[in-house]
Amino acid sequence: RPGELYVGRFAPSPTGWLHAGSMVAALASWLDARAHGGRWLVRIEDVDGPRCIAGAEDAILRQLADCGLHPDAPPLRQSDCGALYAQALERLQAAGLAYGCRCTRREIAQALQARGLDRERHGDLVYPGTCRPGGPQPVPWLEARAVRLLTCADDGCDTVIDWQDRRLGRQRQNVSREVGDFVLRRADGLWAYQLAVVVDDAAQGVTDIVRGEDLADNTPRQILLRRHLGLPQPRHLHTPLVLAADGQKLSKQNGAAPVDTGRPAEVLTAAARALGLDLAEGLSADAVRAEALRQWRLRLERE
Ligand code: GLU
Repeated sequence: RPGELYVGRFAPSPTGWLHAGSMVAALASWLDARAHGGRWLVRIEDVDGPRCIAGAEDAILRQLADCGLHPDAPPLRQSDCGALYAQALERLQAAGLAYGCRCTRREIAQALQARGLDRERHGDLVYPGTCRPGGPQPVPWLEARAVRLLTCADDGCDTVIDWQDRRLGRQRQNVSREVGDFVLRRADGLWAYQLAVVVDDAAQGVTDIVRGEDLADNTPRQILLRRHLGLPQPRHLHTPLVLAADGQKLSKQNGAAPVDTGRPAEVLTAAARALGLDLAEGLSADAVRAEALRQWRLRLERE
């Protein structure tokens, strides 16, 4: 897209300090923004307040600064954006695309079982559609616990999202079958990540999403939401995951160790290598960033 200003972002959740895996996403998003001559923003994804840890936001910003990864604007916090999420939800409701749901997890599991379906996906049950408008038990708005997106109008139809990832290539997901009507506002009143991220990326003018591959299967839901909200579609690049020694994905939840940014050159070298860049030992942090950026630019020329 010639002439378009590149805007990238790193969007950590302050549920813990950055670990080796989150550093890879941070570095990749920074490299891609800098290599494009674009802006690089940081967004603090504290939408799930109860999971956030006091002090984590400051610690994360500190870790980034230690590594010389400086955002071009003060970080945006999701906890300040509730009004924007409410507006987006209203638009979806007005378009008949969002509906109230009063099912508990247990009821969802039972309804799936009754239909011979017992699919569980990342802890999120594929929703059987009990409370859909026109379904067996439509819910008066005031009795809704959660709010869901209507992924397709009829029970039998499919919404298939075909999309392109810069590293993974062509991807495809049948959102109605593989995910189902997903949550936009949770039963506890919190905004769902899917809605928040789409609204924030648009509000910040993000043109390019660069993040870990563990989030790739959220992308079709976000593309669908953007379509419904009339928001521009960014490009996507999902970076390789860093696995722990036991082969498990590194995550703050399973207690991945924070990276020690007191040694920024080592941290940056490890992250750059995880991105497939060729870094010598013993460089300074400045030299690692410069060399990684040089190699990233070469890679873009081939892309
Ligand atoms: N906040 C999410 C996380 O830390 C990242 C969201 C995103 O990059 O879209 O896993």
